[in-house]
Parts: sequence; C-alpha cells; structure tokens
Amino acid sequence: MLNIVLFGPPGAGKGTQAQRMMDATGLPQVSTGDMLRAAVKAQTEVGLEAKKYMDAGALVPDEVIIDLIKDRMKEDDAKNGVMFDGFPRTVPQAEALSEIVNVSIVLAIDVPDERIVERICGRFSCGNCGVVFHDQFNPLPANGCACGSFMEKRRADDTEETVVARLKAYHQQTAPLAEFYQKKGLFSLVDGDRDIDLITTDLLAAIN
Ligand code: AMP
Repeated sequence: MLNIVLFGPPGAGKGTQAQRMMDATGLPQVSTGDMLRAAVKAQTEVGLEAKKYMDAGALVPDEVIIDLIKDRMKEDDAKNGVMFDGFPRTVPQAEALSEIVNVSIVLAIDVPDERIVERICGRFSCGNCGVVFHDQFNPLPANGCACGSFMEKRRADDTEETVVARLKAYHQQTAPLAEFYQKKGLFSLVDGDRDIDLITTDLLAAIN
C-alpha cells in the first residue's frame, strides 16, 4: 500500500506529474479538483455547492471534500494506494485523511509565486485523454495529441483574477500543511521550476 500526496501551489504541475507517474507506480490519480469539476458538470448537489467557491478561487468546505474522498477510497482501484493530487489542502483535511489511510510520502513540488500566473494562464488540456499542455512551456506537438483525438479544454478558473485568490488560499490554508507533514518525517521537496522530465525523475527517485 503506497499512498502519495502531491503537494504544491496551483500550477505547480501536480496533475501533470501524477499522470506521468501512473504507469511507473501503478497507482490511480485522485484529484479532488477533477472530481469537483465532474460534479459541477453533472450539476449534482455537491457540484452546485462547490461551484461558488471554485469560481471565486476559494477552497470548497472541508466536509464536502472529506466526504468525496471517503467515497473515492472505497472504490476497488484504490486498494493498493493512490496518488492524491490537490488533496489535502487544509490541516483538518490532512487530519481526516490520516483516519482513512496511512500517507506514505508527501512530494512537494516547489514553484515560486512569480512563475505561477504565467504557468496557469497558458495551460490547456486534451478533453479526450486529459493530458495537460501549455501554450509556451509544453505546446501541443505539431502532429497533435498522442491520443489522436485532440479536443482543446481550458479551465474556467485559470484566469489571472482567480489565480491571485487561489494563491492566497494556498499560502493561508494549504502551506501550513508542509510543517504538519515535516513533523511526521514524510515531506520531500522537489524543485518544480525545471524541465518536466527532470521533475518526474526526481519524484520517482523520492518514492523509491
Ligand atoms: P485544482 O484542480 O486542484 O486546482 O482545484 C480547483 C478548485 O477546486 C480549487 O480552487 C478549489 O476551489 C477546489 N478544490 C479542489 N481540491 C480541493 C480541496 N482539497 N479542498 C478545498 N477545495 C478544493
């Protein structure tokens, strides 16, 4: 059982790295952001509640998130562990998580604030396969997406105004988790302001 927490500010590359590590680790990516966006799209009760917060760049209340995770961890593919992406984001969420599973390692991807806006504002993904690209730093290859059915998708909250609020929420509510996990001896920091492949290599080395 290997439960990995990918930690870092919005736009650090947590989702990109989780996708790249799926083959090597054999673990599914559990992204609360993706789960919430799916709920918003399906217009479920949770989705309608969460949308207000997401549009404002604020965190969705802990109870909503913890319920989502409890349900997700009951699914069959989670039995050998998962890679949490964008969860936990508050100390109460981390405390709740420790009641559900044992966290094996926290991989923190370090990117300075001044790089975040440019990284978030140019990003897009393939709506067909989910791979993430960036206008400038990780452009779509000339022959298109590897899945063969590229469909451009941009997130509604990847705007300059919302990024400022998301960064503020990160520093106020999420950053204190670094100390929470350092005290448990689980925290491993990787420089995220480098070539994507080098970051993946370092993250996999930290896991091994
Ligand atoms: P993400 O895709 O991780 O950047 O998340 C997008 C948005 O979903 C965030 O700005 C929050 O509004 C919400 N969200 C995702 N994960 C969490 C979480 N663990 N706790 C609270 N809000 C979350």
